[in-house]
Amino acid sequence: MAFSLPDLPYAKGALAPHMSEETLDFHYGKHHKTYVDKANGLVEGTDFANASLEEVIMNSEGGLFNNVAQIWNHTFFWNSLTPNGGAPSATLQGELEKAFGSVDAFKEKFTNTAINTFGSGWAWLVKTADGGLDVVSTSNAGTPMTSGQSALLTCDVWEHAYYIDYRNARPKYLEAFWALVNWDFVEQNLNA
Ligand code: MN
Repeated sequence: MAFSLPDLPYAKGALAPHMSEETLDFHYGKHHKTYVDKANGLVEGTDFANASLEEVIMNSEGGLFNNVAQIWNHTFFWNSLTPNGGAPSATLQGELEKAFGSVDAFKEKFTNTAINTFGSGWAWLVKTADGGLDVVSTSNAGTPMTSGQSALLTCDVWEHAYYIDYRNARPKYLEAFWALVNWDFVEQNLNA
């Protein structure tokens, strides 16, 4: 089973002005696609050739892990965004308040985690094995499922995610990120 580049859930220009079409051209059309192409090359002719993406992520390491985890992380990231960002529902708001005190406190913790992730990586809202919510950072291609956590929301903090629109200013990118968060997706993941 070859891995494929999933369609974006919106047009490439739909996230502007917060995230430009040029960023999507590179980030989705080149970076994400390259992970797919490399992973397909690496699994060809191996025991992983017919495995699901999740199976390969959970059972690989090194270059193969990096490429398959990045496929999954990017697909999850695109689904974490929407041109129609708004606010969490009353239900989700209640869950965030229970875990972090307030929605603003959650956003502050997530933003700080994203900004302070050293080098390339990801910030995540996750459901932990005991059912609680937490904010975590992963390095490079790291992904929560290998720690027994379920991803609810992510922000890609690799420089390729923001360099075209915000140059080195990761905090400005995070401000834009909050305008794009797909809270319905977060809630679906919470209820899954
Ligand atoms: Mn990326």
